[in-house]
Amino acid sequence: MSDPIVLVGGGLAAGTAATELRAGGYDGPVLLFTEESHLPYERPPLSKSYLMGKDPADKAAVHDQAWYDEHDVEVRTGTHVDSVDPTRKVVVAGGTETPYAGLLLATGAAPRHLPLADDSGVRPTYLRTLDDSTALREHLQPGRRIGIIGGGWIGLEVASAAREAGAEVVVLEALEQPLLRVLGPEVAAIFADLHREHGVDLRTGVQVTGIANRGDGARIALGDDSVDVDHLVVGVGVAPNTALAEAAGLSIDNGIRVDAGLRTSAPGIWAAGDVANADHPGLGYPLRVEHWDTAIQHGKVAAANLAGGSATAEALPYFFTDQYDLGMEYVGNPGPEGFDRVVLEGDVPGRVFRAWWVRGDRVVAGMHVNDWDAIDDVRARVGQPL
Ligand code: NAP
Repeated sequence: MSDPIVLVGGGLAAGTAATELRAGGYDGPVLLFTEESHLPYERPPLSKSYLMGKDPADKAAVHDQAWYDEHDVEVRTGTHVDSVDPTRKVVVAGGTETPYAGLLLATGAAPRHLPLADDSGVRPTYLRTLDDSTALREHLQPGRRIGIIGGGWIGLEVASAAREAGAEVVVLEALEQPLLRVLGPEVAAIFADLHREHGVDLRTGVQVTGIANRGDGARIALGDDSVDVDHLVVGVGVAPNTALAEAAGLSIDNGIRVDAGLRTSAPGIWAAGDVANADHPGLGYPLRVEHWDTAIQHGKVAAANLAGGSATAEALPYFFTDQYDLGMEYVGNPGPEGFDRVVLEGDVPGRVFRAWWVRGDRVVAGMHVNDWDAIDDVRARVGQPL
């Protein structure tokens, strides 16, 4: 029996790699390790439909157990991979060495913690896993007040789910607008208005100066002011889980550094998804993207290459969000040079429009809001003159 292809990670990148290995005809052994007790799953529902109680947990799963059985993919849940030896080509998990024919590190990212919150004795939600989402659901009840630190994607999607559940919501964002760095002031203002219209107490430009445990909630100090909440959610970004790769001596730079084929600096090891900082042939600079679509794309490319192919990850980054009655899709990446201006086209007050992020005369990213036939056109215009 040949050594297995080993996949490390319980998210969409590892799950997609397993799927694509079999879809591509690879018939050798495949073994997937995940720390969590669940089969690999995708994360968008955790801050959207699952959090709102609209979808069951199994809808987030990449596959059910029957698929893994049928396709002869062994999944070891609840298993932490302790180390990788790239020279001997073995992984060590639960005290057992497993030799690998090829290895994929799809170890994802972990929420950044706020020491002020952790030291207070309050147990905030740092929403990342299915279990985190299940626990948070219990707090989203009419009459309860949810405090959210961070006006990023997690903060705003949780705010939307909490309002739909009838909870009161206060969002605390350090910058002058939510999502400001990604979207710029014009589009960020649209999201700010959307949340305020839906009753969110959105406070921007505020500094959290202290957090005290009230037993059944938290008191958040904002300089001379303070706000009491029944439950606290912290969404202040994530950091890539590089410890395993770092200990194995792989090249690390804002994640695991990989080429466009997702190869790490060690032969026979690939990295994919949130943890991978990959060369992008079209953009000309390396990119680490913490979004759903990249996990899928990387999973496919990694599977092809683990099976001996020579695929490259070339698609432009894509992400979407759904908040209240606003849905949007975004394609592109302004990169280190950013954008000079944002051009809006369409019915902005009615919230059916397109937005173009422009540098010089070129579109570096585009988005549509509630314009569901637009995505192909948006994609086609990225990289073109406006
Ligand atoms: P995020 O989108 O990076 O947003 C974090 C936000 O918190 C930023 O606005 C940041 O402002 C703010 N912040 C940082 N430190 C703060 C502090 N001390 N006090 C108040 N605000 C603070 O990260 P996230 O919302 O935690 O989401 C985690 C990851 O999941 C991200 O990679 C995100 O892209 C991904 N995600 C994606 C989606 C989607 O695609 N729809 C949905 C959910 C999550 P600064 O800009 O000033 O740092």
